[in-house]
Amino acid sequence: MTTPRTNTLGRYEFWFVVGSQNLYGPQVLAAVEEHARAMAAGLANDPTLPSPFVFKKVARDSNDILAIFREANASPACAGVITWMHTFSPSKMWIAGLALNRKPLLHLHTQFNRDIPWATIDMDFMNLNQSAHGDREHGFIASRMNLARKVVVGHWRDPEVRDRIGAWMRAACAFADGQEKKVVRFGDNMREVAVTEGNKVSALMRLGWTVDGYGIRELERSVAGASDAEVDATIAAYRERYAFAPEVEADPAALAAVREQARIEAGIRAFLEERGAGAFTTTFEDLGALPQLPGLAAQDLMRDGYGFGAEGDWKTAALVRAMKVMGEGLPGGTSFMEDYTYNFEPGNELVLGAHMLEVCPSIADARPRIEVHPLGIGGKADPARLVFEAGAGPAVVATMLEMGGGYRLLSNLVDAVALPEPMPKLPVARALWKPRPSLKASARLWILAGGAHHTGYSSQVTPEMLEDYARITGVEYAEIGGGIDPRALEDRLCGNWGSR
Ligand code: MN
Repeated sequence: MTTPRTNTLGRYEFWFVVGSQNLYGPQVLAAVEEHARAMAAGLANDPTLPSPFVFKKVARDSNDILAIFREANASPACAGVITWMHTFSPSKMWIAGLALNRKPLLHLHTQFNRDIPWATIDMDFMNLNQSAHGDREHGFIASRMNLARKVVVGHWRDPEVRDRIGAWMRAACAFADGQEKKVVRFGDNMREVAVTEGNKVSALMRLGWTVDGYGIRELERSVAGASDAEVDATIAAYRERYAFAPEVEADPAALAAVREQARIEAGIRAFLEERGAGAFTTTFEDLGALPQLPGLAAQDLMRDGYGFGAEGDWKTAALVRAMKVMGEGLPGGTSFMEDYTYNFEPGNELVLGAHMLEVCPSIADARPRIEVHPLGIGGKADPARLVFEAGAGPAVVATMLEMGGGYRLLSNLVDAVALPEPMPKLPVARALWKPRPSLKASARLWILAGGAHHTGYSSQVTPEMLEDYARITGVEYAEIGGGIDPRALEDRLCGNWGSR
Protein backbone atom coordinates (compact mmCIF):
# COMPACT_ATOMS: atom_id res chain seq x y z
CA MET A 1 0.00 0.00 0.00
CA THR A 2 1.30 3.43 -0.86
CA THR A 3 0.73 6.24 1.60
CA PRO A 4 0.54 9.82 0.42
CA ARG A 5 2.93 12.17 2.12
CA THR A 6 1.92 15.77 1.87
CA ASN A 7 4.59 16.60 4.44
CA THR A 8 2.47 19.40 5.77
CA LEU A 9 1.92 18.65 9.45
CA GLY A 10 5.58 19.23 10.31
CA ARG A 11 5.50 22.70 8.76
CA TYR A 12 3.21 24.01 11.50
CA GLU A 13 3.46 24.35 15.27
CA PHE A 14 1.07 24.84 18.17
CA TRP A 15 1.55 27.30 20.99
CA PHE A 16 0.93 26.32 24.59
CA VAL A 17 -0.13 29.33 26.65
CA VAL A 18 -0.52 28.83 30.39
CA GLY A 19 -2.68 31.23 32.35
CA SER A 20 -1.89 32.59 35.79
CA GLN A 21 -1.78 36.03 37.44
CA ASN A 22 0.67 38.20 39.39
CA LEU A 23 -1.34 37.85 42.61
CA TYR A 24 0.43 34.61 43.53
CA GLY A 25 3.96 36.04 43.67
CA PRO A 26 7.21 34.95 42.02
CA GLN A 27 7.55 31.58 43.75
CA VAL A 28 4.23 30.22 42.53
CA LEU A 29 4.72 31.70 39.05
CA ALA A 30 8.13 30.04 38.81
CA ALA A 31 6.57 26.70 39.74
CA VAL A 32 3.82 27.23 37.14
CA GLU A 33 6.40 27.83 34.44
CA GLU A 34 8.47 24.83 35.49
CA HIS A 35 5.42 22.60 35.28
CA ALA A 36 4.38 24.06 31.94
CA ARG A 37 7.83 23.43 30.47
CA ALA A 38 7.87 19.86 31.74
CA MET A 39 4.44 19.23 30.20
CA ALA A 40 5.44 20.77 26.87
CA ALA A 41 8.62 18.69 26.81
CA GLY A 42 6.61 15.54 27.50
CA LEU A 43 4.01 16.32 24.87
CA ALA A 44 6.54 17.46 22.28
CA ASN A 45 8.06 13.98 22.20
CA ASP A 46 4.79 12.15 21.76
CA PRO A 47 4.30 10.83 18.20
CA THR A 48 0.52 11.10 18.72
CA LEU A 49 0.94 14.83 18.25
CA PRO A 50 1.81 15.35 14.58
CA SER A 51 3.20 18.87 14.94
CA PRO A 52 5.52 20.61 17.42
CA PHE A 53 3.93 21.50 20.78
CA VAL A 54 5.69 24.68 21.82
CA PHE A 55 5.56 26.21 25.31
CA LYS A 56 5.08 29.92 24.72
CA LYS A 57 4.55 31.73 27.98
CA VAL A 58 2.96 31.93 31.39
CA ALA A 59 0.45 34.71 30.83
CA ARG A 60 0.18 36.93 33.92
CA ASP A 61 -1.83 39.95 32.78
CA SER A 62 -3.84 41.37 29.91
CA ASN A 63 -0.78 42.82 28.17
CA ASP A 64 0.91 39.42 28.14
CA ILE A 65 -2.22 37.86 26.70
CA LEU A 66 -2.75 40.52 24.06
CA ALA A 67 0.89 40.23 22.96
CA ILE A 68 0.69 36.45 22.64
CA PHE A 69 -2.40 36.49 20.43
CA ARG A 70 -1.01 39.31 18.29
CA GLU A 71 2.14 37.28 17.79
CA ALA A 72 0.15 34.11 17.05
CA ASN A 73 -1.96 35.89 14.44
CA ALA A 74 1.17 37.20 12.75
CA SER A 75 2.96 33.84 12.72
CA PRO A 76 2.49 31.72 9.58
CA ALA A 77 3.94 28.72 11.47
CA CYS A 78 1.45 28.90 14.34
CA ALA A 79 -1.57 26.78 13.36
CA GLY A 80 -3.33 26.97 16.71
CA VAL A 81 -3.21 28.05 20.35
CA ILE A 82 -3.66 25.71 23.31
CA THR A 83 -4.63 27.34 26.60
CA TRP A 84 -4.59 25.97 30.14
CA MET A 85 -5.10 27.80 33.43
CA HIS A 86 -2.69 26.22 35.90
CA THR A 87 -3.93 28.65 38.54
CA PHE A 88 -6.84 31.02 38.51
CA SER A 89 -6.33 33.56 35.70
CA PRO A 90 -9.13 36.14 35.82
CA SER A 91 -10.80 36.07 32.43
CA LYS A 92 -11.39 39.78 31.93
CA MET A 93 -7.63 39.80 31.30
CA TRP A 94 -8.22 37.45 28.36
CA ILE A 95 -10.98 39.33 26.55
CA ALA A 96 -8.84 41.66 24.43
CA GLY A 97 -6.50 38.85 23.35
CA LEU A 98 -9.23 36.32 22.63
CA ALA A 99 -11.26 38.94 20.75
CA LEU A 100 -8.55 39.41 18.17
CA ASN A 101 -7.41 35.78 18.01
CA ARG A 102 -7.65 34.34 14.48
CA LYS A 103 -6.08 30.96 15.21
CA PRO A 104 -7.87 27.71 16.09
CA LEU A 105 -8.23 27.40 19.85
CA LEU A 106 -8.00 24.35 22.08
CA HIS A 107 -8.69 24.59 25.80
CA LEU A 108 -6.78 21.84 27.55
CA HIS A 109 -8.49 21.26 30.89
CA THR A 110 -5.80 19.36 32.75
CA GLN A 111 -3.58 19.65 35.79
CA PHE A 112 0.10 18.97 36.39
CA ASN A 113 -0.33 16.22 38.98
CA ARG A 114 -2.53 13.28 38.14
CA ASP A 115 -3.49 12.20 41.66
CA ILE A 116 -4.27 14.13 44.79
CA PRO A 117 -1.27 13.66 47.15
CA TRP A 118 -3.48 12.59 50.02
CA ALA A 119 -0.84 12.46 52.74
CA THR A 120 0.93 15.70 51.96
CA ILE A 121 -1.69 17.98 50.45
CA ASP A 122 -1.87 21.40 52.09
CA MET A 123 -3.15 24.86 51.18
CA ASP A 124 0.06 25.72 49.32
CA PHE A 125 -0.54 22.77 47.02
CA MET A 126 -4.17 23.81 46.60
CA ASN A 127 -3.09 27.36 45.78
CA LEU A 128 -0.74 26.18 43.02
CA ASN A 129 -2.87 23.43 41.47
CA GLN A 130 -6.29 24.94 40.95
CA SER A 131 -7.02 24.45 37.27
CA ALA A 132 -10.23 22.66 38.29
CA HIS A 133 -11.69 26.09 38.94
CA GLY A 134 -9.26 28.29 37.00
CA ASP A 135 -10.26 26.57 33.76
CA ARG A 136 -13.95 27.11 34.52
CA GLU A 137 -13.39 30.85 34.62
CA HIS A 138 -11.56 30.49 31.27
CA GLY A 139 -14.39 28.42 29.81
CA PHE A 140 -16.95 30.97 30.90
CA ILE A 141 -15.38 33.85 29.02
CA ALA A 142 -14.90 31.79 25.86
CA SER A 143 -18.58 30.80 25.97
CA ARG A 144 -19.63 34.33 26.88
CA MET A 145 -17.72 35.51 23.78
CA ASN A 146 -19.23 32.67 21.75
CA LEU A 147 -15.79 31.41 20.68
CA ALA A 148 -15.56 28.12 18.81
CA ARG A 149 -12.94 25.91 20.43
CA LYS A 150 -12.22 22.34 21.37
CA VAL A 151 -12.23 21.45 25.05
CA VAL A 152 -10.11 18.43 26.00
CA VAL A 153 -10.34 17.13 29.57
CA GLY A 154 -7.97 14.79 31.40
CA HIS A 155 -4.45 14.36 32.66
CA TRP A 156 -1.84 15.47 30.11
CA ARG A 157 -0.09 12.08 30.20
CA ASP A 158 -3.33 10.25 29.39
CA PRO A 159 -3.02 8.75 25.86
CA GLU A 160 -6.70 9.44 25.20
CA VAL A 161 -6.13 13.15 25.94
CA ARG A 162 -3.19 13.16 23.53
CA ASP A 163 -5.34 11.52 20.85
CA ARG A 164 -7.91 14.31 21.22
CA ILE A 165 -5.19 16.97 20.89
CA GLY A 166 -3.58 15.17 17.95
CA ALA A 167 -6.86 14.97 16.02
CA TRP A 168 -7.45 18.68 16.51
CA MET A 169 -3.89 19.52 15.42
CA ARG A 170 -4.48 17.60 12.19
CA ALA A 171 -7.69 19.53 11.53
CA ALA A 172 -6.00 22.84 12.35
CA CYS A 173 -3.13 22.06 9.95
CA ALA A 174 -5.65 21.25 7.22
CA PHE A 175 -7.26 24.62 7.83
CA ALA A 176 -3.89 26.42 7.70
CA ASP A 177 -2.91 24.54 4.55
CA GLY A 178 -6.26 25.37 2.93
CA GLN A 179 -5.54 29.07 3.42
CA GLU A 180 -2.17 28.75 1.72
CA LYS A 181 -2.72 26.28 -1.13
CA LYS A 182 -4.95 27.18 -4.04
CA VAL A 183 -7.55 25.11 -5.82
CA VAL A 184 -7.02 25.14 -9.59
CA ARG A 185 -9.97 24.42 -11.86
CA PHE A 186 -9.44 23.31 -15.44
CA GLY A 187 -12.72 24.22 -17.08
CA ASP A 188 -16.00 24.78 -15.28
CA ASN A 189 -18.47 22.49 -13.53
CA MET A 190 -20.32 19.75 -15.35
CA ARG A 191 -23.24 21.51 -16.97
CA GLU A 192 -26.59 21.47 -15.11
CA VAL A 193 -25.16 19.85 -11.98
CA ALA A 194 -26.21 21.64 -8.76
CA VAL A 195 -24.32 20.09 -5.87
CA THR A 196 -20.87 20.79 -7.28
CA GLU A 197 -21.68 24.50 -7.67
CA GLY A 198 -21.04 27.14 -5.06
CA ASN A 199 -20.03 30.66 -4.19
CA LYS A 200 -16.26 31.00 -4.38
CA VAL A 201 -16.25 34.24 -2.41
CA SER A 202 -18.08 32.50 0.45
CA ALA A 203 -15.65 29.58 0.25
CA LEU A 204 -12.70 31.91 0.62
CA MET A 205 -14.27 33.87 3.46
CA ARG A 206 -15.51 30.88 5.42
CA LEU A 207 -13.15 28.01 4.56
CA GLY A 208 -10.05 29.90 3.40
CA TRP A 209 -10.14 28.21 -0.01
CA THR A 210 -8.95 30.26 -3.00
CA VAL A 211 -10.56 28.70 -6.05
CA ASP A 212 -9.34 29.91 -9.44
CA GLY A 213 -10.48 28.83 -12.90
CA TYR A 214 -8.22 28.41 -15.93
CA GLY A 215 -9.07 27.84 -19.53
CA ILE A 216 -8.17 24.42 -20.86
CA ARG A 217 -5.88 26.12 -23.39
CA GLU A 218 -3.50 27.03 -20.55
CA LEU A 219 -3.30 23.41 -19.47
CA GLU A 220 -2.81 22.32 -23.10
CA ARG A 221 0.21 24.61 -23.28
CA SER A 222 1.63 23.26 -20.03
CA VAL A 223 1.17 19.67 -21.23
CA ALA A 224 2.76 20.48 -24.59
CA GLY A 225 5.62 22.13 -22.70
CA ALA A 226 6.41 19.04 -20.63
CA SER A 227 9.88 17.83 -21.56
CA ASP A 228 10.66 14.24 -22.55
CA ALA A 229 12.83 14.05 -19.43
CA GLU A 230 9.85 14.97 -17.23
CA VAL A 231 7.71 12.39 -19.01
CA ASP A 232 10.44 9.76 -18.59
CA ALA A 233 10.69 10.56 -14.88
CA THR A 234 6.92 10.19 -14.52
CA ILE A 235 7.00 6.82 -16.31
CA ALA A 236 9.85 5.75 -14.03
CA ALA A 237 7.70 6.64 -11.01
CA TYR A 238 4.84 4.56 -12.48
CA ARG A 239 7.22 1.61 -12.88
CA GLU A 240 8.25 1.93 -9.25
CA ARG A 241 4.80 2.42 -7.79
CA TYR A 242 2.53 0.31 -9.98
CA ALA A 243 2.39 -2.88 -12.01
CA PHE A 244 1.96 -2.59 -15.78
CA ALA A 245 -0.67 -5.08 -16.96
CA PRO A 246 0.86 -7.70 -19.33
CA GLU A 247 -1.59 -6.59 -22.05
CA VAL A 248 -0.17 -3.06 -21.77
CA GLU A 249 3.44 -4.25 -21.88
CA ALA A 250 2.67 -6.28 -25.01
CA ASP A 251 0.86 -3.51 -26.88
CA PRO A 252 2.85 -0.52 -28.23
CA ALA A 253 -0.38 1.50 -28.60
CA ALA A 254 -1.25 0.92 -24.93
CA LEU A 255 2.25 1.89 -23.84
CA ALA A 256 1.89 5.04 -25.90
CA ALA A 257 -1.41 5.77 -24.13
CA VAL A 258 0.34 5.44 -20.76
CA ARG A 259 3.00 7.83 -22.01
CA GLU A 260 0.28 10.32 -23.01
CA GLN A 261 -1.06 10.17 -19.43
CA ALA A 262 2.45 10.73 -18.08
CA ARG A 263 2.75 13.80 -20.29
CA ILE A 264 -0.64 15.08 -19.09
CA GLU A 265 0.47 14.47 -15.49
CA ALA A 266 3.76 16.31 -15.97
CA GLY A 267 1.84 19.23 -17.48
CA ILE A 268 -0.70 19.36 -14.65
CA ARG A 269 1.99 18.98 -11.99
CA ALA A 270 4.06 21.85 -13.35
CA PHE A 271 0.94 24.01 -13.62
CA LEU A 272 -0.05 23.31 -10.00
CA GLU A 273 3.44 23.82 -8.63
CA GLU A 274 3.78 27.13 -10.43
CA ARG A 275 0.60 28.40 -8.79
CA GLY A 276 1.07 26.97 -5.29
CA ALA A 277 -1.98 24.75 -5.68
CA GLY A 278 -2.90 21.86 -3.40
CA ALA A 279 -5.93 20.63 -5.33
CA PHE A 280 -7.40 20.67 -8.83
CA THR A 281 -10.47 19.78 -10.84
CA THR A 282 -11.06 18.59 -14.38
CA THR A 283 -14.22 18.09 -16.40
CA PHE A 284 -14.80 15.62 -19.18
CA GLU A 285 -16.93 18.25 -20.93
CA ASP A 286 -13.95 20.51 -21.46
CA LEU A 287 -10.77 18.62 -22.30
CA GLY A 288 -9.72 20.74 -25.27
CA ALA A 289 -6.91 19.08 -27.17
CA LEU A 290 -5.94 16.73 -24.33
CA PRO A 291 -5.84 13.30 -25.93
CA GLN A 292 -7.37 11.47 -22.95
CA LEU A 293 -9.35 12.19 -19.80
CA PRO A 294 -6.72 12.56 -17.05
CA GLY A 295 -7.12 9.16 -15.34
CA LEU A 296 -3.80 7.70 -14.29
CA ALA A 297 -2.52 11.29 -14.15
CA ALA A 298 -5.16 12.39 -11.63
CA GLN A 299 -4.69 9.17 -9.65
CA ASP A 300 -0.93 9.55 -9.36
CA LEU A 301 -1.21 13.24 -8.42
CA MET A 302 -3.67 12.35 -5.67
CA ARG A 303 -1.19 9.78 -4.41
CA ASP A 304 1.30 12.60 -4.01
CA GLY A 305 -1.10 14.54 -1.81
CA TYR A 306 -3.10 16.67 -4.25
CA GLY A 307 -6.82 16.99 -3.69
CA PHE A 308 -8.96 16.22 -6.71
CA GLY A 309 -12.54 16.71 -7.83
CA ALA A 310 -14.02 15.48 -11.09
CA GLU A 311 -16.61 17.38 -13.16
CA GLY A 312 -15.34 20.68 -11.79
CA ASP A 313 -16.17 19.74 -8.19
CA TRP A 314 -13.84 22.18 -6.41
CA LYS A 315 -15.45 21.79 -2.98
CA THR A 316 -14.67 18.08 -2.99
CA ALA A 317 -11.19 18.72 -4.41
CA ALA A 318 -10.42 21.10 -1.55
CA LEU A 319 -11.98 18.73 1.00
CA VAL A 320 -9.92 15.79 -0.32
CA ARG A 321 -6.79 17.91 0.06
CA ALA A 322 -7.83 18.88 3.61
CA MET A 323 -8.45 15.22 4.45
CA LYS A 324 -5.08 14.22 3.02
CA VAL A 325 -3.42 16.73 5.31
CA MET A 326 -5.44 15.50 8.32
CA GLY A 327 -4.50 11.91 7.58
CA GLU A 328 -0.86 12.48 6.77
CA GLY A 329 1.41 9.70 8.03
CA LEU A 330 -1.44 7.55 9.36
CA PRO A 331 -2.01 4.03 7.99
CA GLY A 332 -4.42 3.86 5.05
CA GLY A 333 -5.22 6.40 2.39
CA THR A 334 -7.55 9.16 1.22
CA SER A 335 -9.29 9.55 -2.14
CA PHE A 336 -11.87 11.29 -4.23
CA MET A 337 -14.88 8.94 -4.37
CA GLU A 338 -18.38 8.59 -5.74
CA ASP A 339 -21.25 6.40 -4.57
CA TYR A 340 -21.88 4.48 -7.76
CA THR A 341 -24.18 1.51 -7.43
CA TYR A 342 -25.78 -0.63 -4.70
CA ASN A 343 -26.01 -4.24 -3.69
CA PHE A 344 -29.52 -4.42 -2.20
CA GLU A 345 -29.24 -8.10 -1.37
CA PRO A 346 -31.05 -8.60 1.97
CA GLY A 347 -28.57 -8.91 4.82
CA ASN A 348 -25.64 -7.93 2.60
CA GLU A 349 -26.41 -4.36 1.59
CA LEU A 350 -23.35 -2.65 0.12
CA VAL A 351 -22.25 0.47 -1.73
CA LEU A 352 -19.90 0.12 -4.67
CA GLY A 353 -17.86 3.31 -4.89
CA ALA A 354 -15.77 4.24 -7.91
CA HIS A 355 -15.50 6.93 -10.57
CA MET A 356 -14.93 7.03 -14.28
CA LEU A 357 -11.23 6.61 -13.43
CA GLU A 358 -10.10 8.99 -10.71
CA VAL A 359 -9.68 7.05 -7.45
CA CYS A 360 -6.47 7.47 -5.44
CA PRO A 361 -4.15 4.46 -5.17
CA SER A 362 -3.36 5.34 -1.54
CA ILE A 363 -6.46 3.33 -0.57
CA ALA A 364 -5.48 0.23 -2.59
CA ASP A 365 -5.20 -3.14 -0.85
CA ALA A 366 -2.45 -4.34 -3.20
CA ARG A 367 -0.14 -3.01 -5.89
CA PRO A 368 -2.35 -1.15 -8.41
CA ARG A 369 -2.27 -2.23 -12.04
CA ILE A 370 -1.96 0.12 -15.02
CA GLU A 371 -4.47 -0.77 -17.73
CA VAL A 372 -5.76 0.92 -20.88
CA HIS A 373 -9.42 0.61 -21.88
CA PRO A 374 -12.02 2.56 -23.81
CA LEU A 375 -14.15 5.09 -21.91
CA GLY A 376 -17.74 5.59 -23.07
CA ILE A 377 -17.91 9.24 -22.02
CA GLY A 378 -16.00 12.33 -23.17
CA GLY A 379 -15.24 11.18 -26.72
CA LYS A 380 -11.47 10.90 -26.24
CA ALA A 381 -8.86 8.20 -26.77
CA ASP A 382 -8.72 5.14 -24.49
CA PRO A 383 -7.33 6.42 -21.20
CA ALA A 384 -4.70 4.72 -19.07
CA ARG A 385 -5.84 4.18 -15.50
CA LEU A 386 -4.96 2.37 -12.29
CA VAL A 387 -7.15 -0.59 -11.41
CA PHE A 388 -7.36 -1.85 -7.81
CA GLU A 389 -9.63 -2.63 -4.89
CA ALA A 390 -9.71 -0.52 -1.73
CA GLY A 391 -8.42 -2.19 1.41
CA ALA A 392 -10.98 -3.55 3.89
CA GLY A 393 -11.57 -1.88 7.25
CA PRO A 394 -13.18 1.18 8.79
CA ALA A 395 -13.29 4.37 6.75
CA VAL A 396 -15.21 7.60 6.52
CA VAL A 397 -16.82 9.41 3.59
CA ALA A 398 -17.40 13.16 3.79
CA THR A 399 -18.95 15.90 1.72
CA MET A 400 -18.92 19.69 2.00
CA LEU A 401 -22.28 21.16 1.05
CA GLU A 402 -23.23 24.72 0.32
CA MET A 403 -26.78 25.12 1.58
CA GLY A 404 -27.40 28.74 0.67
CA GLY A 405 -27.22 30.06 4.22
CA GLY A 406 -23.94 28.34 4.99
CA TYR A 407 -21.93 25.16 4.74
CA ARG A 408 -22.65 21.69 6.05
CA LEU A 409 -19.92 19.11 6.45
CA LEU A 410 -21.55 15.71 6.41
CA SER A 411 -19.80 12.44 7.17
CA ASN A 412 -20.68 8.76 7.28
CA LEU A 413 -18.71 6.00 8.95
CA VAL A 414 -18.41 2.97 6.73
CA ASP A 415 -16.71 -0.43 6.78
CA ALA A 416 -14.91 -1.30 3.57
CA VAL A 417 -15.12 -4.98 2.67
CA ALA A 418 -13.40 -7.26 0.18
CA LEU A 419 -15.17 -8.01 -3.10
CA PRO A 420 -17.33 -11.12 -2.64
CA GLU A 421 -16.64 -12.02 -6.28
CA PRO A 422 -14.26 -10.73 -8.94
CA MET A 423 -15.59 -8.13 -11.40
CA PRO A 424 -13.49 -8.96 -14.48
CA LYS A 425 -15.43 -6.65 -16.80
CA LEU A 426 -15.09 -3.51 -14.65
CA PRO A 427 -11.55 -2.19 -15.16
CA VAL A 428 -11.68 0.77 -12.76
CA ALA A 429 -10.47 1.36 -9.22
CA ARG A 430 -13.24 0.68 -6.74
CA ALA A 431 -14.17 0.47 -3.09
CA LEU A 432 -16.93 -1.66 -1.62
CA TRP A 433 -18.38 -0.72 1.76
CA LYS A 434 -21.11 -1.24 4.27
CA PRO A 435 -22.30 2.10 5.61
CA ARG A 436 -23.08 2.48 9.32
CA PRO A 437 -25.56 2.03 10.84
CA SER A 438 -27.02 0.38 7.69
CA LEU A 439 -27.30 1.20 4.01
CA LYS A 440 -30.97 2.08 4.37
CA ALA A 441 -30.52 4.38 7.38
CA SER A 442 -27.31 5.91 6.08
CA ALA A 443 -28.52 6.67 2.57
CA ARG A 444 -31.85 8.03 3.85
CA LEU A 445 -30.11 10.44 6.23
CA TRP A 446 -27.47 11.33 3.64
CA ILE A 447 -30.19 12.23 1.15
CA LEU A 448 -32.24 14.13 3.75
CA ALA A 449 -29.09 16.08 4.61
CA GLY A 450 -28.54 16.94 0.92
CA GLY A 451 -25.29 14.94 0.82
CA ALA A 452 -23.46 14.91 -2.52
CA HIS A 453 -22.61 11.94 -4.72
CA HIS A 454 -18.94 12.98 -4.65
CA THR A 455 -17.05 12.52 -1.39
CA GLY A 456 -13.68 12.39 0.21
CA TYR A 457 -13.10 8.78 1.24
CA SER A 458 -10.51 8.03 3.89
CA SER A 459 -9.25 5.16 5.97
CA GLN A 460 -6.89 7.63 7.71
CA VAL A 461 -9.19 10.43 8.81
CA THR A 462 -11.51 10.02 11.80
CA PRO A 463 -14.90 11.70 12.27
CA GLU A 464 -13.35 13.57 15.20
CA MET A 465 -10.90 15.30 12.84
CA LEU A 466 -13.76 16.28 10.53
CA GLU A 467 -15.80 17.62 13.43
CA ASP A 468 -12.80 19.60 14.67
CA TYR A 469 -12.32 20.96 11.15
CA ALA A 470 -15.98 22.02 11.05
CA ARG A 471 -15.64 23.76 14.44
CA ILE A 472 -12.48 25.54 13.32
CA THR A 473 -14.05 26.76 10.08
CA GLY A 474 -17.39 27.50 11.70
CA VAL A 475 -19.51 25.23 9.53
CA GLU A 476 -22.32 22.90 10.54
CA TYR A 477 -21.26 19.30 11.12
CA ALA A 478 -23.48 16.23 10.86
CA GLU A 479 -22.30 12.66 11.26
CA ILE A 480 -24.11 9.51 10.22
CA GLY A 481 -23.25 6.19 11.81
CA GLY A 482 -21.50 7.65 14.84
CA GLY A 483 -22.88 8.32 18.27
CA ILE A 484 -25.87 10.40 17.21
CA ASP A 485 -29.24 8.69 17.20
CA PRO A 486 -30.58 8.61 13.61
CA ARG A 487 -33.96 9.98 14.72
CA ALA A 488 -32.35 12.92 16.53
CA LEU A 489 -30.18 13.63 13.50
CA GLU A 490 -33.19 13.54 11.21
CA ASP A 491 -35.02 16.00 13.45
CA ARG A 492 -32.00 18.29 13.36
CA LEU A 493 -31.60 18.08 9.59
CA CYS A 494 -35.27 18.53 8.77
CA GLY A 495 -36.39 20.64 11.71
CA ASN A 496 -36.25 23.89 9.77
CA TRP A 497 -37.76 22.79 6.49
CA GLY A 498 -39.40 25.64 4.70
CA SER A 499 -37.13 28.27 6.20
CA ARG A 500 -34.30 28.14 3.67
MN1 MN B 1 -18.63 12.24 -10.75
